[in-house]
Amino acid sequence: MQPFAYQRAATPEAAVAAHGGRQDARYIAGGTNLLDLMKLQIETPARLVDISRLPLTDIEETPEGGLRIGAMTDNTALAAHPAVRSRYPVLAEAILAGASGQLRNKASTGGNFMQRTRCGYFYDVARPCNKRQPGSGCGAIGGHNRIHAILGASEHCIATHPSDMAVAMQALDVVLHVQGADGPRTVPVDALFRLPGDTPQLEYTLEPGELITAIELPPAPGGRMHYRKVRDRASYAFALVSVAAVLDVSDGQVAGARVALGGVAHKPWRARAAEAALVGQPATEATFLAAADAELAPARGWGANDFKLPLARRVIARTLAELAQPNTGA
Ligand code: SF4
Repeated sequence: MQPFAYQRAATPEAAVAAHGGRQDARYIAGGTNLLDLMKLQIETPARLVDISRLPLTDIEETPEGGLRIGAMTDNTALAAHPAVRSRYPVLAEAILAGASGQLRNKASTGGNFMQRTRCGYFYDVARPCNKRQPGSGCGAIGGHNRIHAILGASEHCIATHPSDMAVAMQALDVVLHVQGADGPRTVPVDALFRLPGDTPQLEYTLEPGELITAIELPPAPGGRMHYRKVRDRASYAFALVSVAAVLDVSDGQVAGARVALGGVAHKPWRARAAEAALVGQPATEATFLAAADAELAPARGWGANDFKLPLARRVIARTLAELAQPNTGA
């Protein structure tokens, strides 16, 4: 591991000042991803700003009827919070589907968004990777790409975002509160993430040194919600395909729908084409399959991950069908 300077911050403003927007500075909270990257020397920060003791662990009701989650709230506490479990069960389910109990105890809510891909070539410094070393090529294209993207990828990178939690956050339209050198601002969750394009090393739209301080959940949408994750093992595995869905059915018709996908793109993927194909239609299997087809029309496989196309179609339709049934789902 390379030597680095370490500084613990007491306030968000002090953390931002200590970071200073330097390219070689990093925030560290739970460290569940960053420490692995540092051990492999994929990340070699000259300065670590420890934000783990910031007083940002409250979960509060908002005047609008939603929740404001402090960014240092650990994943276990967030998933166990009574208001999350009762009003946003898709979020609790998604968090509990991720990682392990030990990791969820350490991982912060803000840090969960900022995880880096688990593409094996990104972690193997002997192999080409445009994300780790821009211009070096993409080992996954033509290589082992079983876990890779089918939507929104580019010829420069086909990596996926690993978070489960962020997929549910996408479906719930959360807003991130961030602190920067120029003060606070808000970022809608879908605007946080970039697609790879020709700059896969750029994953987020935050400015250097900007810090997530809180996540605001709007009032819970009407309908029922559920997170379904398909993976290679029953636990402690990243999603091959996951679906966070909210479905509101009235008189047999879909009155409202939110759908987000995990394991299929460089970012938690909001399935707006599927949503548009659902609303106003009868809540039937044919509608759910048509919605999946609408979303997946631009999807493509890269060889070893071709199976994700029919898998995603079935997982989307199955999740929606479960939510449309009385007395099942969340
Ligand atoms: Fe690197 Fe992205 Fe290619 Fe993986 S998919 S090797 S992260 S460029």
